[in-house]
Amino acid sequence: MAEVLVYVDHVDGAVRKPTLELLTLARRIGEPVAVALGAGAENTAAALAEHGAVKVLTADAPEFAEYLVVPKVDALQAAYDAVSPAAVLVPSSAEGKEIAARLAVRIGSGIITDAVDLEAGDEGPVATQSAFAASFTTKSRVSKGTPVITVKPNSAAVEAAPAAGAVEALSVTFSALATGTKVTSRTPRESTGRPELTEAAIVVSGGRGVNGAENFGIIEALADSLGAAVGASRAAVDAGWYPHSNQVGQTGKSVSPQLYIANGISGAIQHRAGMQTSKTIVAVNKDAEAPIFDLVDYGVVGDLFQVVPQLTEEVNARKG
Ligand SMILES: Cc1cc2nc3c(=O)[nH]c(=O)nc-3n(C[C@H](O)[C@H](O)[C@H](O)COP(=O)(O)OP(=O)(O)OC[C@H]3O[C@@H](n4cnc5c(N)ncnc54)[C@H](O)[C@@H]3O)c2cc1C
Repeated sequence: MAEVLVYVDHVDGAVRKPTLELLTLARRIGEPVAVALGAGAENTAAALAEHGAVKVLTADAPEFAEYLVVPKVDALQAAYDAVSPAAVLVPSSAEGKEIAARLAVRIGSGIITDAVDLEAGDEGPVATQSAFAASFTTKSRVSKGTPVITVKPNSAAVEAAPAAGAVEALSVTFSALATGTKVTSRTPRESTGRPELTEAAIVVSGGRGVNGAENFGIIEALADSLGAAVGASRAAVDAGWYPHSNQVGQTGKSVSPQLYIANGISGAIQHRAGMQTSKTIVAVNKDAEAPIFDLVDYGVVGDLFQVVPQLTEEVNARKG
C-alpha cells in the first residue's frame, strides 16, 4: 500500500488533536508515515502508533526552534525524498500552510489548502473544500506531482487504529536558506485553561451585542460549561472587549468546530468566512432579521443577557 506522509504538530512530544485527525484521513488513502520534528519528537511515537502510523520519522536539531519554518521544510523534504509518498498531509495552521506551500514549490507539486475532508480517488486523493461563506462545496485533486494537502482541524474524527509506529531517525541536511530568519525572542501566551480556538470542538463567540468587555464573562461562563474556546467578532475585538487572538473571521482565525454558538453577532460575510465550516451553528440574536440566521442550524431570537445565562445554567445542571 502507498505511504502517506503526515506532518506532526506537537508540543514537546504531546501530539495535537488535528494531527490525530490527519492520521484518520491518511488511512483512507494509504499507510501513514508520520514526520515529527524538534524537541520531544520521539515521545510522539506512542500516540501516533495508537492512531495508525506505521512509521515515525523523527529529527531534532536546534535549527527547528531557533529559526522560522525553513528547517522544518528541509526536514519534510528529506522525509519526502526518503519515502516517495503518495501524498503529504499537513495540519492547516498558519505555520502548516507555509510549510506545505514551500514543500509543494520545491517538489513541483500542486497543493490544496484548508481541506475539510479527504477520500481516495482513482487518480489520487480527492479533497473537499468549503468556499464563499459555505455557499459552495468543491472537490478537487492535485493534477501535478505528489499531492500536498493541508487539512483544517475538526475535519475528521480521531480513531484508534493501532499500528507499528516504528521510530526511525531522519537524516536532515539544512539548506543555506534554513538559517535566514532567526527567532529572537518568545513570549508564551498566558494560558486561559480553555482549548485552543482553532482546535476546539466547541466555540462560543460574542459580538457587538455583548456590549462591553465586562459582559464577556457570560460568554466565558457558557464556554466553560461546555469545555469550549471563546471567540469574538471583529467589532468586539476592535472595541477592545476581547483580544485579537480570539477574533474569528477573514482577518482573524478560521475555526471549524463541531458546534459554534454565535451570541450578538450579525453574521457579516467576513465573520462567516472564519466559521462557515462549523458542523452545527447556533445563534442567539435579538434581531430576527440578522443575516446569521440564514446560516444557522438552530437560532434563538432573544436577548443574549437572558438567553446565555439560562443556557449555561441548564448545561451545568445537566452535567451535575
Ligand atoms: C476587510 C474586512 C475584514 C474583516 N474581518 C472580520 C473578521 O475577521 N471577523 C469579523 O467578525 N468581522 C470582520 N470584519 C467586520 C465585519 O464586516 C462586521 O463589521 C463585524 O463582523 C460585525 O461584528 P458583530 O456581528 O459583532 O457586530 P454587528 O454587525 O454590529 O452585530 C451585532 C449583532 O448583535 C445583535 N445584538 C445586539 N444586542 C443584542 C442582545 N442584547 N442580545 C442578542 N443580540 C444582540 C444585533 O441584533 C446585531 O445583529 C471585517 C471587515 C472588513 C471590511
